[in-house]
Amino acid sequence: MNEFLKKDKELIWHPFTPLQGGVDPILIKSGNGVYLNTADDKKIIDAVSSWWVNLHGHANPVIAKAIADQAQILEHVIFAGFTHPQAITLAENLLNILPSNQSKIFFSDNGSTAVEVALKMAIQYWNNKEIKKERIIALDGAYHGDTFGAMSVGERGMFTNPFHALLFDVDVIDLPSFDNESDVLHKFENLVRSRDVAAFIFEPLLQGAAGMRTYPAEILDKLIRIAKSFDTLCIADEVLTGFGRTGKMFACDYLAEKPDIMAISKGITGGAMALGVTSCSNKILEAFDNDDFTKTFFHGHSYTANPLACAAANASYSILVDQVCQNEIKMITESHKGFVKRMKDHDKVRNARSLGTMVAIELEVKGETSYTSEIRKRIYPFFIERNILLRPLGNTIYILPPYLITAEELETIYKAIEEFVASI
Ligand code: PMP
Repeated sequence: MNEFLKKDKELIWHPFTPLQGGVDPILIKSGNGVYLNTADDKKIIDAVSSWWVNLHGHANPVIAKAIADQAQILEHVIFAGFTHPQAITLAENLLNILPSNQSKIFFSDNGSTAVEVALKMAIQYWNNKEIKKERIIALDGAYHGDTFGAMSVGERGMFTNPFHALLFDVDVIDLPSFDNESDVLHKFENLVRSRDVAAFIFEPLLQGAAGMRTYPAEILDKLIRIAKSFDTLCIADEVLTGFGRTGKMFACDYLAEKPDIMAISKGITGGAMALGVTSCSNKILEAFDNDDFTKTFFHGHSYTANPLACAAANASYSILVDQVCQNEIKMITESHKGFVKRMKDHDKVRNARSLGTMVAIELEVKGETSYTSEIRKRIYPFFIERNILLRPLGNTIYILPPYLITAEELETIYKAIEEFVASI
């Protein structure tokens, strides 16, 4: 075994990985575009953008230069009482592309913290107004991160089991579809009418960790309209869906109604640095914008608005808004639609769906649809052997690639998926 891997085994505890019986990690020496280059000279296509963060390819030269330049000017500064040009430029850039009702940017450093900030903002909004509203409504199957607040508003299951007694209580509604629409709307209205509901949190149109489950914008619009009519705040978790993933800049761009608060992260820096952002509308600010010190939002992380991360995000933004990248997103979107047509009638496929740059193939596996589905253990090595990184969610194989992937590279992945499906 390579010396590095020996030390890795001895010293490092990897995320979402059992200490025994898990697969050994693959040693990556470099990245280039959609490829991860292994220590034993294989080139693996990163078909999941390294946990959905990478937008413009690995070791992107524009982002790398922005970070290197910034590192020689200012690597970090405390963000209370101080500010810096990269953060200000980034706030301006983000507000350019976020839904028009978003008016202020609060920085943190990952997706879970962006969600924690969103929840705390919503709860404190009511507290500052001296109105008792503390309950949260979430969607069945939700995943909002691994910190306690984020776990509380997420699906309870194997991952959260040890902590259940310590998570706060949340009202949950089913993921809406055209089949259950009236039931879900009815239950939702009853909850916001009868309970002291502070906020409704949702992953708009696409639930990632739940298995890339999609649901209709029309129904989400109706839920938000009901929430607003009973003065319930709406929080859109766009940690996964932001920055073009669903085909539009944000999934909320498919909606007529706009959320009061948004959490974004992952693609914000093009996948180069850790950064989280929570944005909010003027309505939220009203409850904080006064001279009562006790109503301050007392929240902040050491690496808030880190200048290197903000520089990476500004560089990623410039690539993202360029027509070249927008065309890449369109190409992937159309290509995925074609793949869905190819797969949807296959007798081993329960459901095939795409939304923008995401395509998911849910396999027909008797009696098992969970994350721990046995088939999962076969899928990952099958694709790694073919130099493709795909991390299935249970029996769902999905692709969420960096935007600079070519049509040929996509076809290579599609063919490998077809080969796998034919083998079951
Ligand atoms: N919200 C959503 C919708 C996510 O998909 C994730 C991460 N997969 C998070 C929040 C948490 O982000 P992070 O892993 O950066 O804490």
